Amino acid sequence: MISDNINKIKAEIPNNVTLVAVTKYHSIEDTKAVLDAGVHDLGESKVQDFLKKYEEFGNEPRWHFIGHLQKNKVKYLIGKTFLIHSVDSLELLDVIEKESKKQETVTSVLLQLNLAREDSKSGILIEDLEEVLKAIPKYKYVKVKGLMAIGPLTQNNEEIRNIFVELRRIYDKIKEKILDDVIQMTYLSMGMTDDYTIAIEEGSNMIRIGRKIFSS
Ligand SMILES: *Cc1c(COP(=O)(O)O)cnc(C)c1O
Repeated sequence: MISDNINKIKAEIPNNVTLVAVTKYHSIEDTKAVLDAGVHDLGESKVQDFLKKYEEFGNEPRWHFIGHLQKNKVKYLIGKTFLIHSVDSLELLDVIEKESKKQETVTSVLLQLNLAREDSKSGILIEDLEEVLKAIPKYKYVKVKGLMAIGPLTQNNEEIRNIFVELRRIYDKIKEKILDDVIQMTYLSMGMTDDYTIAIEEGSNMIRIGRKIFSS
């Protein structure tokens, strides 16, 4: 089942799009089935659950942390993740910098934007983005590599598309305006089970898929 689902998704998406399998809520056994099906980018949203899987699989997968991250838990992730997608404040960047320095490693992150302005979601609001971008040159142990957003909670495809178009526009603008050695824009992380087709049409190069991989 899992491998059939993965093969279907892979056949559908362009080569330049990285499939992150969101294994949150799923067992060690199911996670192993994902790895066996050839997907080595895994997404987790809770530090506790991540650590259990890390204990089992170590650095074999590339770990993506995609959930809201509390500052006091940062230290458990440092040195273990390929990419933290959910950086949503300067305070969090400060803590990632401090902990990365302590562990003598550089941590790659994405800035999560809350373009749909949904209260239920974390993420940087558009009016606060400039301030965050201005602070980035001072970080030596954090590398910002792109943007992440969660599509709006709606059935209206045009609303979803508008948000993805806006994220892409901001991504391109940063890429154009900010020097590569400050921010090397590499990943535009948008698209989940219900909206990844639209996200790819609008320029996503990293999709985060949970339900579609594990559905029977
Ligand atoms: C759970 C989750 C996903 C996967 O969502 P599905 O709808 O199951 O594909 C992707 N991104 C984030 C941030 C998530 O929390």
